[in-house]
Amino acid sequence: MRRFISDLFLLICVIGLAYYFRDPLSHAWSQFMMRSFPCSQPIAYSIGDFDTRFGISKETFLKDIQRAESIWETPVKKELFVYKPDSALKINLIYDDRQTATQKLQKLGIIIHDDQSTYNTLKAKYDVQTKQIQNLKASYAVASVSYQSRQTAYNNEVESLNKRGRVTQDIYDRLAQEKKDLDQLSVKLSEQEGVINAHVDVLNALVEVINRLARSLNLKAVQYNETGAIRGGEFEEGEYVTDVSGNRINIYQFDDQTKLIRVLTHELGHALGLDHIDNPKAIMYRLNNGVNEALTDGDLAELKRQCQMK
Ligand SMILES: [Zn+2]
Repeated sequence: MRRFISDLFLLICVIGLAYYFRDPLSHAWSQFMMRSFPCSQPIAYSIGDFDTRFGISKETFLKDIQRAESIWETPVKKELFVYKPDSALKINLIYDDRQTATQKLQKLGIIIHDDQSTYNTLKAKYDVQTKQIQNLKASYAVASVSYQSRQTAYNNEVESLNKRGRVTQDIYDRLAQEKKDLDQLSVKLSEQEGVINAHVDVLNALVEVINRLARSLNLKAVQYNETGAIRGGEFEEGEYVTDVSGNRINIYQFDDQTKLIRVLTHELGHALGLDHIDNPKAIMYRLNNGVNEALTDGDLAELKRQCQMK
């Protein structure tokens, strides 16, 4: 009887632990299945975070994911992915300064292609913008110094008159006028600040996109460093993340629909377990350089190897 009770206790502990760790366990199980029998089950995905500031609808986003899906599925005539609301693999559309910069420039009528001529255009605009900001800052500095010294003189005079106690109407009028002028100057100065900040905003957007292009064009260019944060490496428009909390695809930035479909296809490739390949035109190249919405021979060979197909 005592033996039975201790066995029962052990069993309850095991069930309790399994229940407590059910999420990481089921994740580990699906990882194990994927590694042992890759492509045997279609990978179920759903849409997670969806930020409307990208200016596309959820329906369009889903359609683009399905196009990315079919880029993998059509050549091998096999269901590799399936859309299933609430399933574990979340595809997130996350809005940060990458897309803000893209859209800021698009609003100024600047069309961004991932090519050398866009890069050159943006660099020229960067130079113009930098010069303008320098000039604006210089004239702001002059105005600001003159304002400060007039303000100090005014304060000193008011203070010493206060000590004396009595002022003539003339002095009173002059000081009232000076106060009015100073207030106007102060408003003008903050307007100038606003103009400078708007220019700096555009400059930072230019820097963000120039650096991204430099990386994606593999230019040994100087990193423009106005914004500080420089992101290194591959396909920064998106990423496939797998950790204890599960798998997810994060999309951060795209210039147009083709780029979005390509980055989705690339990240779905990682979800299938594919690594990078060394052809710049390939979907699984480390950078989103190409414009093809189809697999290259190299992509297809990798897919077949991974899925053990002939
Ligand atoms: Zn990648």
